[in-house]
Amino acid sequence: MSFNREDPVTVLKGVGGKSAEYFHNAGIDTIGDLTEYYPARYEVYEQPGTLSGKADGQIVAVCGFLEKTPGVRRTGRTSITTARIRFRDTQVEETLQALWFNMPYLRGSVKTGKVYVFRGRLRRNGKSVSLLQPQLFDPEEYEAKCAALQPVYPPVKGLTNNALRKAIRQALEGLSGDREEKDYLPKEILERYELARISYVGWQMHFPENEFSMQSARKRLVFEEFLFFLLTVRMIREEMAQVICPHSLHVCVQEQMLLDALPYQLTGAQRRAWSSIRAELTGSHVMTRLVQGDVGSGKTVIAFLAMITAAGNGKQAALMVPTEVLARQHYASFTGICKKAGIECPSVLLTGSLSVKEKREARAAAATGKALVIIGTHALIQEGVEFKNLAVVVTDEQHRFGVRQREHLLEKGELPHTLVMSATPIPRTLAAILFGDMDITVIDEMPGGRLPIRNCVVGKAWRPNAYSFIRGEVRKGHQAYVICPLVDASELVDAENVHDYAQMLQNALGREIRTGILHGRMKNAEKNAVMEAFANREIDVLVSTTVVEVGVNVPNATVMMIENAERFGLAQLHQLRGRVGRGADQSYCIFLCTQETKENKERLEILERSNDGFEVARKDLGMRGPGDLLGVRQSGEAQFRVADIYRDAAVLQMADEAAKELYDAIITNKEPQMGRLRTKLLYYQGDDLKNLNI
Ligand code: ADP
Ligand code: MG
Repeated sequence: MSFNREDPVTVLKGVGGKSAEYFHNAGIDTIGDLTEYYPARYEVYEQPGTLSGKADGQIVAVCGFLEKTPGVRRTGRTSITTARIRFRDTQVEETLQALWFNMPYLRGSVKTGKVYVFRGRLRRNGKSVSLLQPQLFDPEEYEAKCAALQPVYPPVKGLTNNALRKAIRQALEGLSGDREEKDYLPKEILERYELARISYVGWQMHFPENEFSMQSARKRLVFEEFLFFLLTVRMIREEMAQVICPHSLHVCVQEQMLLDALPYQLTGAQRRAWSSIRAELTGSHVMTRLVQGDVGSGKTVIAFLAMITAAGNGKQAALMVPTEVLARQHYASFTGICKKAGIECPSVLLTGSLSVKEKREARAAAATGKALVIIGTHALIQEGVEFKNLAVVVTDEQHRFGVRQREHLLEKGELPHTLVMSATPIPRTLAAILFGDMDITVIDEMPGGRLPIRNCVVGKAWRPNAYSFIRGEVRKGHQAYVICPLVDASELVDAENVHDYAQMLQNALGREIRTGILHGRMKNAEKNAVMEAFANREIDVLVSTTVVEVGVNVPNATVMMIENAERFGLAQLHQLRGRVGRGADQSYCIFLCTQETKENKERLEILERSNDGFEVARKDLGMRGPGDLLGVRQSGEAQFRVADIYRDAAVLQMADEAAKELYDAIITNKEPQMGRLRTKLLYYQGDDLKNLNI
């Protein structure tokens, strides 16, 4: 069978109604979509071997057999199948307990005495050693797997990794032969930057022969992704340069009133940032500016100054943030400071937890111009809110470089000035390329009088000390966060959960200390109530998932304790740490490492040594092991589908060069061989829009 990229996935054998729906839900409709559904990472199957030197929580493989038929027992709704594996560990025969959850049928299917490779997660608990949820392989089959990289796809609900692989193989087979000559990148570019041809990419990403071939396929994809992005940025910039600013603002008295009401003086960096923003707001061009500054550097007040300047001119300003909690917090501090300064500035909050009526009223206030300042979540403001005369748009904590999103907003408000606030530590040279359509301001100075956060990386055994430390801080009138990876207990993931932990912690700390919980599965209204209670000091210790990660500001909190810290990315840990050290008091961050392997400790110690986000990001990169290098995607802030701005910085430079060179040829559309590239670019831009759901 042969297919075109535009054919629906249902042309594949075995893909019908239900699975087509599963594919559709994951954004896969056509053969092209499917072949571009790249693995999230690749698994490397190690040779089966010894357990010595393997730590708790690691994935390991041993070659051995079961002595007896497995036993099955039930506890509540789960069934647990257990068996003893006998295997050879270097020279001695050893045994090991295997545990499977909810797989009672194994008892009938596994053969005692037959040799298998068992691959699963190692658990060491005191003297006892067991293997959790091991997969069974025929030794020969396993040997074959050891040679190749095994792709692991981002999960598609309803489909297994294997089903995805099968469908992708079929799709690639159907497409092959078709594309050899039709590369849309010019030959000179392919040669100069040593890029693989597009016909090579699909197979080598999905079924790589080896790591080298996968890496070279990946490089081509990364280049292409950067190239299309940069061409788009360039198009926007050219368009913007033509525009005369419809919102030239005047300097207004409210600005000074707000500055006078602040309980502090602006830092030098804040003053410089504000003076360039102010000059642009009052100038003749539309501002598009990125304000980059590490967590806690004081970006919010800069946003407020820009907003109050719009309002002082009788025009509107919108502030968009990623979470409801943050929207409420900004709303409260903005209205609070206005009140204190004696500034009359009608403002509304627009978030998901408002009632239908409240939302309607808030929207009406935005549309009629009754409200001059509108604060809310990205989604809500983008979805069908009309403004009367929007002059300033601020996006806070926006990590995604969605150029089209910026353009979309511009269309919405007759070209308002835009300000993007980001704490993502991107080196300046990269930022200049990635934000090619924006001017960049860096806030590179922390407010004075702050003591640097004290960090410590500790093991489980240190927990009691941590608790007495927290107790001591609470007695001094301070507050603390404790972060757990999970909301509820899980059999498969061995990590702390908010519910059980909070209970345990309450017992450990004693009655006089008030604990609260916060996690993403709570209703918005509940979350808000808890956050408010914490901000008002009605809760001393907040046990939370990473929902507090971005932007939350409770300066009285002085302790951040992170359980199972090794489970998080360093960038994320740095963000979490940024929740403390926001006031004048000494703050502390305790990284509790539960899987105390050498690598985990070394990685966390980067945070112990530095409080600087840039430094952390750079070191993190240098630390990645070979397994991580295979990972296509950096967790957390995935702005690009395949590319990673840190790791692929060199390719970004190449793509930047190529974009400069190709731009005119593509835009003027005079050279016929550019037609295919142009079509591809438009397709990319359409896709970018689709991904933003607007
Ligand atoms: P971020 O850059 O992470 O958004 P915020 O704007 O939330 O940081 O500021 C962090 C904290 O520092 C807030 O409590 C804020 O009131 C305070 N702050 C901001 N600027 C200054 C300053 N110049 N001097 C002292 N404190 C400041
Ligand atoms: Mg902030």
